[in-house]
Amino acid sequence: MEGKIFDIKRFALNDGPGIRTTVFFKGCPLKCTWCHNPEGISFDIEEFEQERFLDGERFVHIQKIGQSVSVQKLMDEILKDVNFYIQSGGGVTFSGGEPMAQSEFLTLVLAECKKKGLHVTIDTTGLCNTDKLDVISNYADLFLYDMKFVNSDLHYNYTGVKNSLIIENLDFLLNKKSAVIVRVPIIPGINDTVECIADLKEFVKNRQNQIKELHFLPFHNIGQSKYERFKKDYSLSALSSQQPDDLNYLIEEFKSLEIKTQIGGL
Ligand code: SF4
Repeated sequence: MEGKIFDIKRFALNDGPGIRTTVFFKGCPLKCTWCHNPEGISFDIEEFEQERFLDGERFVHIQKIGQSVSVQKLMDEILKDVNFYIQSGGGVTFSGGEPMAQSEFLTLVLAECKKKGLHVTIDTTGLCNTDKLDVISNYADLFLYDMKFVNSDLHYNYTGVKNSLIIENLDFLLNKKSAVIVRVPIIPGINDTVECIADLKEFVKNRQNQIKELHFLPFHNIGQSKYERFKKDYSLSALSSQQPDDLNYLIEEFKSLEIKTQIGGL
């Protein structure tokens, strides 16, 4: 069986504990306006024409995004850095796109990771079949679970989908006592309004003894150049990147809750 991935990042430090290898699965059921991996949204392997000019001459080459990999080939890549995982308390993170969208392939890879004793983190949107999530949760050591909006209509407006299944699946994992870090990508003027933050606080308060940690991720626009490169529309070009300190007020705001909060990933 083969899966489709579009990148492998080595020595990743923000996708779970320790030094990690992050595998990016191709395809996502959401279409977030701010997505910084737009090349990962389509489930297809894509080809883009890239042009360069040298001494006034135009050169065109085709850039392929995505590849099919077997379980064995992916494991060979993952195991190259096994010594770093052991020394740092790290492991492997499956991200995307949405890794749960290829859950059969993911299950096979996770089974191999567990045979090798690797720590496994799943970075997920939570929009997936609950039975499949149940299977994956038997292998996963940690979930990084994105929560973009508590309000389902706003969630729909900015990601193209409602969030009822995402919330159901989060509660499923919490009730199963899976380790879950909720991550909130903060998008200025979009989900950091007074109403959105109040909704989030209430949402977290109702789960504060079950969620392991709450992370606020500052907005950055490093993905903007990709939209130009891959000829996709980007509507947030007027937004500037945030500095971590810009989100200090959220730490203050959530201080009254019994939950560990932080700015940025692990
Ligand atoms: S969920 Fe993540 S990968 Fe999917 S569109 Fe949104 S930001 Fe991009």
